[in-house]
Parts: sequence; C-alpha cells; structure tokens
Amino acid sequence: PVDVLVVGGGLAALRTVAALRDHGFDGPVRVLGAEGVAPYDRPPLSKHLLDRTSPAWLADELGHDLHALADEVHLDRPARGLRVRAGGGAVVVTDDGHLAASCVVLATGAHATTVPGWRAATLHTAADADGLRAALAGGRRRLVVVGAGWVGAEVAGVSAAAGHHVTVLESRAAPLASALGESVGVMTTPWYAAAGVVLRTGATVTAVDGAGADGSVVTLDDGERLSADAVLVAVGARPATGWLGGALPLRGDAVPVDEAYRVLGPDGPFPGLLAVGDVAVRRSARHGWVPGGHWDEALHGPDVLVRHLLGVPVDGPEATPYVFSTQLGHDLTMFGLPASDDAVTVLGDPAGDGWTTLWTRGDVVTGTLVVDRPRDVGAARRLFARDHLPHLVLPAGLPDDLRTL
Ligand code: FAD
Repeated sequence: PVDVLVVGGGLAALRTVAALRDHGFDGPVRVLGAEGVAPYDRPPLSKHLLDRTSPAWLADELGHDLHALADEVHLDRPARGLRVRAGGGAVVVTDDGHLAASCVVLATGAHATTVPGWRAATLHTAADADGLRAALAGGRRRLVVVGAGWVGAEVAGVSAAAGHHVTVLESRAAPLASALGESVGVMTTPWYAAAGVVLRTGATVTAVDGAGADGSVVTLDDGERLSADAVLVAVGARPATGWLGGALPLRGDAVPVDEAYRVLGPDGPFPGLLAVGDVAVRRSARHGWVPGGHWDEALHGPDVLVRHLLGVPVDGPEATPYVFSTQLGHDLTMFGLPASDDAVTVLGDPAGDGWTTLWTRGDVVTGTLVVDRPRDVGAARRLFARDHLPHLVLPAGLPDDLRTL
C-alpha cells in the first residue's frame, strides 16, 4: 500500500500501527478515534472497577507510542461513513472532511448492547467505568446487574467484595450460558452465593426506570419490582458497524474477513480494505467463523493482518480463540470455539479446587475451559497449537474424577 488509514482507537488499531512499523512499512499512517483518549485496556474496567480509577494505558502496558508510530492521530474524529474506491482502498467521511487512502483498516471495536428506554448503565469505556464507580460511591449501595455474562459476573464479584449489595438477574437458566452452554455455565452458579451475590436465573427484565427517590426500579416479566441505587446492563456487545451505513455487506453485525483479514464482498475481498478486532468476524479453516469480542484476537490479529498485507511470511498455525476471565474469586481460561450442541466432558470436581472442561464433536476437541487449574492452561493451549483441531482419545479405565454430561 501507499498509505494506511486505521479507523479506531483501541487495542486492534494500536497493534495494527505497531505491526506496520515493526514489519518495515514506512509510508504515511493515519489514525481516527472516537473516544478522545489514548488507547487503553478494557479488561481491567470490570475486574478492577473499584480499585483502579485511571485507565490502564496501552502505551504503558505494551510500550507502543501511537503518536510516535503514526504520522497523524485524531483521537476525537470518528468516521461517519465509508465509500469503497473502485481502484482499491476507500474514502472515509468525517465531520472535518473526507480522507482517502489506498489501504483502510477498520478497527472500530464494539459497543455494549443495551435496551432502548432502559435507564441503566453499560460498561464498555473508561467513561462508563467512571460513571459506575460514582454511582457506587458513598457506602453500601444496591447494585442490580442484568446479565450473568463475562462482564456481569466480574462486576458483581468485585462489587460484592467491596461491600455492596449485589443482585444479578439472568434470563437464561445458568450464568455464562451463551459462552459456555447451560450445562457448563451452571457449574459457576454456586460461586455467586459464596461471593455474597444474589443470583436469580430465569429472571427476565422488562423495564428499568430511573432515578426516583428510592433510586432506580427494575421490573421483571412477572411484575416484580426491585429497587437499586445503580443498574448495570451487561448483556453483551455488538460490533461497531452502524457508521458504515450499509457500505459493506455484514455478517450479523460484524464485518466478514478472510484468513488475511481482508474484508469480504460478494465477489471476494475488497482490495485495500481490512478489518480486525471486535468489529470483524474472521473466516477460519479450523473453527468456522470466529467472532471478535476477545482481547487476544485484537492483540495478535493485527500482526497477521500486516504480514499478509506486506507479504511477510506468517509463522505457525492460526491462533485459536482464547478468552480469560477472573470472576467471583475464580480464574477461567478458554480456548477454541465450541458449538452449543457439542458434547461436554468434565475433568475434576466442579465443587472442588478446580476443573477442566473439554467440548467435543465426534472425537474432535472443539474447545476447552480451565477453571482454577493454572497448571492445565499450558497443556490446553498446546492442544490447539496445530493446523487441525485435536482428536480426543479417552483412555480405557477412565480416572475416577472424570465424568461426562
Ligand atoms: P475496542 O477496544 O472496542 O476499540 C475500538 C475503538 O474504536 C474504541 O476506542 C472506539 O471508540 C473506536 N471507534 C468506534 N467507532 C469509531 C468510529 N466510527 N471512528 C473511529 N473510531 C471509532 N476480552 C477478553 O478476552 N478477556 C477479558 O477478560 C475481557 N474483559 C473485558 C471487560 C470489559 C469491561 C470489556 C468492555 C471488554 C472485555 N474484553 C475482554 C473484550 C476486549 O476488551 C475486546 O475484545 C478488545 O478491547 C477489542 O479491541 P478492539 O480494538 O477491537 O475494540
């Protein structure tokens, strides 16, 4: 490419700029962001909501100085629209005019999902974290968290540990049901009571009305009403693609890309148009379509993108999807991308000190989750460090602590 325009100001954008320079690209690089602040790390926003008041700047964590690496950085100039150019690249529309580039990288990440009309907080940005912290300031507060997903579980745990009265309302039958499936998610249910959090599953919220004399009121579908000082809606995130205004075909809400992170159109990849991180859904020979939403993809995807772009060989097999979470006093590490109907095998005792889950389709392992067993994490990672998904050969005479659901 002659020049590169990176749209987005988060982890994937910063890593793209750093990889371009690492691999010797010396043409002009420009960056457009929307938050008006330097790139920071999002995972601590929930895990350290109450014990960390300033963002974890990625410049400190990763040692990349965006301003030194890029020629132009506009952190408060969001892209408003995009026009694909016939000859390659695109024109990006902003409030301060149009920017054309021979290569445009979309790295606009995701937005927290919410429900229109609900008077409730979400947690995706450092500004959101500041708001939630302020709502929890000044003694023991009543916090209602809607959604027992990764973020909801993390916020519930740290808030209860800080002395707040926390209720989590989850419409599914188990926490983490969409990520792990109900049969595995339910194994985390006892963690809530042990951490002093009230978990109510099968609880569907229909309205959140805000701040009267007694704080907010959360209404359930059976008419029950709960009062709260703060309400957090943590029901997932959605790729930030609204600004594209239909300029690109989407898969779900995400920008579909191939193994080289090239944006896919009806006739194949658009030349000079790439997408990486939470905004993208990547085609993978090994896993099928891999959605964004996880830090590791935004950390490592940009290097692969830039290698393909510049013709630098890519070493090793593709990275496997990898998620980590610290919640309610437990450490979770997940590799792979299991489907909801894959079979589940549990090694260890979910009521004991730690356990590992394997998901399988036939004899192929599609994913693994390691809970509180740091020594299993390396082995789990190595399972997926090949070109093909591993096959599971269960030994004859299974160990006592192995059970199959
Ligand atoms: P983002 O970090 O969302 O950055 C995108 C940036 O682009 C944002 O700054 C945004 O403002 C900007 N932008 C948006 N629209 C435009 C536009 N039109 N023009 C210009 N800029 C725009 N993942 C894990 O694997 N493990 C965890 O434990 C974990 N914890 C998390 C906890 C929280 C509270 C949150 C919110 C996320 C967590 N994640 C976790 C997910 C992880 O943080 C994301 O996968 C990662 O941040 C994705 O990086 P990204 O650069 O693609 O997107």
